[in-house]
Amino acid sequence: MPDIWKLKDKSFNKFIVNNDIQEKVQELAVRINTDLDGKTPLFIVVLNGAFIFASDLLKKVTIDCEIAFVKLSSYKGTDSTGVVQQIIGLDRDVKGRTIVIIEDIVDTGLTLVRFREILSEMEPANVMIATCLLKPDAFGDKFPIDYHCFSIPNEFVVGYGLDYDGLGRNSSDIYKIIAQ
Ligand code: 5GP
Repeated sequence: MPDIWKLKDKSFNKFIVNNDIQEKVQELAVRINTDLDGKTPLFIVVLNGAFIFASDLLKKVTIDCEIAFVKLSSYKGTDSTGVVQQIIGLDRDVKGRTIVIIEDIVDTGLTLVRFREILSEMEPANVMIATCLLKPDAFGDKFPIDYHCFSIPNEFVVGYGLDYDGLGRNSSDIYKIIAQ
């Protein structure tokens, strides 16, 4: 992919290359394999954005586990509305399970706040979070983020599953918006 990428009305700079992502994903998988061995966790992949990260990560997870996919919607264009509008597709019993939510990015964390509330009504043993990207300045300290690959500044990114108005998900590298 080019160093500068134009998507619709915005331009983006190459920010994190796939080799660096793969290194971090491998480290994270090793930690999960150690921490959750014997717990048969249920990984819940949050679609659409987390599909590439989840695919890379879960290929490196070698412990017994189950995988489910959900869709949450809360984001339009480049600004988070902060409201989870829908949760679709959770087809596994979570009661008494160790749950690991797999996210593409934690920005304000408001999507996860709501999702964790809904999950906690289903009485899991434990809910953990694994995200590729974390924006600490937007997130603050709302709850523990158990696993993350990269902390990034509070700027809009695309690629590696993340989109700008539907475009950009297919890049294996991550791009950061160029301020106009
Ligand atoms: P939050 O609720 O943490 O503010 O945001 C949750 C969702 O907003 C993420 O799962 C992701 O889909 C989207 N999002 C947050 N920040 C970004 C960003 O920088 N780029 C893109 N493409 N999506 C983002």
